Amino acid sequence: MDGTLVDYENANVHIMTHGLHYGGGVFEGIRIYETEKGRAIFRLRDHMVRLYRSAKVLHLKIPYPLDELCEAAKETVRANKDVKVDYIRPLVYYGTGTYGLNPIKLPTKVAIAVVYMGVYLGEEQMKHGAKLITSSWEKPSNRAAALAAKACGNYLNSVMARLEAVNRGADEALMLNSEGNVAEGTGENIFMVRDGKLFTTPTSAGILEGITRDSVMQVAEDMGLKVIEKDITRTELYIADEVFMTGTAAEVQPIHSIDDIVMGEGRPGPITLKLQKGFSEAANGRNPRFRHWLDVV
Ligand code: PMP
Repeated sequence: MDGTLVDYENANVHIMTHGLHYGGGVFEGIRIYETEKGRAIFRLRDHMVRLYRSAKVLHLKIPYPLDELCEAAKETVRANKDVKVDYIRPLVYYGTGTYGLNPIKLPTKVAIAVVYMGVYLGEEQMKHGAKLITSSWEKPSNRAAALAAKACGNYLNSVMARLEAVNRGADEALMLNSEGNVAEGTGENIFMVRDGKLFTTPTSAGILEGITRDSVMQVAEDMGLKVIEKDITRTELYIADEVFMTGTAAEVQPIHSIDDIVMGEGRPGPITLKLQKGFSEAANGRNPRFRHWLDVV
């Protein structure tokens, strides 16, 4: 936290922190994978670049150069060498000093936490596919929110949608945009397979440009499978052969049903499984073509 290693129990913030009241902060989620060369961080620099870009949108000035923050992430992982951890959460936020909305005089606080995330939507869901519902909460448009920034305050919409999904017995929510087209999950991008073709929603649909989305697109192309970015409607997803979601936490997550409509054969489809395997090989350092994605700590 702000340059020093702090024990989990003591990693606290002041109650008058702007980020806590108004969501004035930006964050990242980054996975740590076990590789034969030891623990490695997946696409660390790409995540940190996105963090700096998010900060720029919120006028948050990160008081360290990018390389130093990358090194700090590695150091925090090293400090947890005897702890079961698989996930890094960098967080940059407005601190304390003034109490209104205007954050301009506030100090920038920087923290990098290392925790255990596990299988985000659950082991069973990973094996058999997760249940989605379409959220009644619309994803804010680019007119309403700084969507390209992974900003803390943006996530209340996701939290509401996730609560709705869980309260209705589903695992995750599908978010539609203000046009009524598919945007993404609450913390994942979305892909579908129809007649052997792979589709995902375009950045213009108001999504976060996921790093896992990009990784899966590269893995797919490496396998000779072209990914088509196009607007997707809710009903198109209903009749897709396969649907899966991607995210740092969720990885490649097969979808079993959406609004009680079962996808394809009701089990993870062949293209989903192939891409899941391809992604996992890349993340675990077993594909030399993608070894540059890994930073051994
Ligand atoms: N969309 C949203 C809204 C997210 O929060 C995330 C998670 N960061 C994603 C998509 C997936 O992005 P990534 O693959 O970079 O984790």
